[in-house]
Amino acid sequence: MKVYSLTGIVLKKNTSGDSDRLYTIYSKEKGKIAVVAKGVRKINSRRNPHLDTLNLIKFSVRESKSKYKTIEEVKAQNSFKYIKEDLDLSGAAYYMCDLISRFNEEEHENPDQFELLQQSLSTLENNLIPLNYVVSAFEVRLMKLLGYELYLDKCASCGRKFDDSWTSHKFSFELGGLCCNRCNNFGMELSNDSAETLYLLSLNKKKKNHNMRSLSEITNIINTFTLYTLGQRVKSFELLRKI
Ligand SMILES: [Zn+2]
Repeated sequence: MKVYSLTGIVLKKNTSGDSDRLYTIYSKEKGKIAVVAKGVRKINSRRNPHLDTLNLIKFSVRESKSKYKTIEEVKAQNSFKYIKEDLDLSGAAYYMCDLISRFNEEEHENPDQFELLQQSLSTLENNLIPLNYVVSAFEVRLMKLLGYELYLDKCASCGRKFDDSWTSHKFSFELGGLCCNRCNNFGMELSNDSAETLYLLSLNKKKKNHNMRSLSEITNIINTFTLYTLGQRVKSFELLRKI
């Protein structure tokens, strides 16, 4: 049976049998994989602490004839201790892991998604940027990697570049982005500050000083849009399976 080494982030774990656990891991090399670790629920298991959720791990996997591959060796490279000690940070981290888990099918490799998750967890661990901003930036980039890029640097309706000449701003859920004052699209009115925050977010830049009200506004918009868009993606997976 084939054995190979991978690098990944533990997204979630479930009990399996009397002493085993089933892990969902997002690996750099193979995308999302489900693997069983034998005996890790025994008190003296050495591998158990390395396989904590959120951990960045290096591990070896053995292919088997049974449904799941098994984990052989495992070593945690980063356990993101600071995140785990903080309820808000860990909530954000688990949410990001959950998005990756729900919106990817197994064994579709995407190293950019792995990098995005790893970088976002490291940013949360450093805790220098507002948590809401880290999550929104993660959502925008994840959607782009999955093929659902938002229009945040130009008008989603007419293509006009975002700049100071826009006298009002809307966010259109239907078109998936900002709409300028010349376009009479249905959408949610945004303040200049919120529109600018979204624009900078699309360029991977951040404002020097975050206005907390704007941040909360864009967080809600991006979060709603992400869950709606990616929810449609899951429905399309399910439809494809039925065909
Ligand atoms: Zn326009």
